[in-house]
Amino acid sequence: MPVNLLDHDLRGLTDFCASIGEKPFRARQLVRWIHQLREADFARMTDLAGPLRARLSQVAMVRPPEVISESTASDGTRKWLLSVGTGNGIETVFIPEVSRGTLCISSQVGCALECSFCSTGRQGFNRNLTTGEIIGQLWLANKLLSDGRPNADSRRERIISNVVMMGMGEPLANFDNVVSALYIMLDDYGYGMSRRRVTVSTSGIVPNIDRLRAECPVALAISLHAPSDELRDRLVPINRKYPLRELMAACRRYVDAMPADASPASGRATGEPMPPSIIPAALAHKWKRDGAPRDFITFEYVMLEGVNDRVEQARELVVLTRDVPCKFNLIPFNPFPNSGYRRSGPAQIRAFQETLMAAGLIATVRKTRGEDIDGACGQLAGQVVDRTRRRLRREAQESA
Ligand code: SAH
Ligand code: SF4
Repeated sequence: MPVNLLDHDLRGLTDFCASIGEKPFRARQLVRWIHQLREADFARMTDLAGPLRARLSQVAMVRPPEVISESTASDGTRKWLLSVGTGNGIETVFIPEVSRGTLCISSQVGCALECSFCSTGRQGFNRNLTTGEIIGQLWLANKLLSDGRPNADSRRERIISNVVMMGMGEPLANFDNVVSALYIMLDDYGYGMSRRRVTVSTSGIVPNIDRLRAECPVALAISLHAPSDELRDRLVPINRKYPLRELMAACRRYVDAMPADASPASGRATGEPMPPSIIPAALAHKWKRDGAPRDFITFEYVMLEGVNDRVEQARELVVLTRDVPCKFNLIPFNPFPNSGYRRSGPAQIRAFQETLMAAGLIATVRKTRGEDIDGACGQLAGQVVDRTRRRLRREAQESA
């Protein structure tokens, strides 16, 4: 079976090249051809020697997930359903804005964490995505959005300027594959993205927040959704394992311990150096050149009517997060059938936002995009062959 080269970051491709008797610089050429120039056909990789091209077409391939369907919302948001085999499908969403284009990508088929307000969580869980299936979403979207125009990958004309891991699945529960995909996004020979423009969103797997800081610090968003353990235990069940005190401490560590010369003029860094051994050499300059990923954490907070949207809960949040440099992003709940929740009204959301802002916090309300194609936050359902049989259990409960 040929090796899918999308499954490998620079380090993996270097090992692959060694395995076929090629020098390490070939790996860099491959990253550039595959990701920067979006080329899947080895025959067209013109600066590789003829025999190498012939060899590659025997032992390797560049195979992204297959597009099953595509939909475009009235606001220009585009969603792709991609096949990842054996009846499973994942979703990827592109959100165009005036000054940026954001691709929202998935990290797992379904999700095992069962947050009660999330449609992905209701689907059950099948498996982790491979690195190739994760980076393949960016590869495909780039190709489809650029319509073959050659200069779309020059920095000024970049169509996808930001990537958020806010699609299906919990990225920090699929750590190694997600980090490999992040390395390819950051690699100058790959997508050359700044760490500030790549965001991992997590429901709060504390040990892996620390690992992410050590191995690939990118912008971090935390799905907070509640000011107390009692409520968060119900909405985000992983909170029972990693309660708010531990989560807040991990958030502080994430922004505090950036390497001394990587922090912008915020003065936040304490100078703990990044362990050089775990940063791939080709990326080491990034930790010096373009600053800390973010010197704040983004807290995502889904607005659920009558559940977590009272002004006094906003005040509790101010106290909870007082030692964490942060911004709040309030997400109006996106409904799906039988969710059992309702979206908070605009006046309630405004009052909540104003309470946070009166305490000196930055709080924005997320514009809901792509609702008419079920492409908004938390609506992605894909096609999950549920190994956990969660859907059956839930249907049995609902009919009892
Ligand atoms: N598993 C990760 C990332 C995927 S979810 C996480 O939980 O952070 C991306 C964001 O959408 C999270 O903040 C999640 O809590 C939120 N979300 C989930 N369901 C939602 C819904 N129905 N309406 C609005 N936001 C939702
Ligand atoms: Fe999983 Fe995130 Fe949905 Fe929770 S909100 S079930 S962690 S995808």
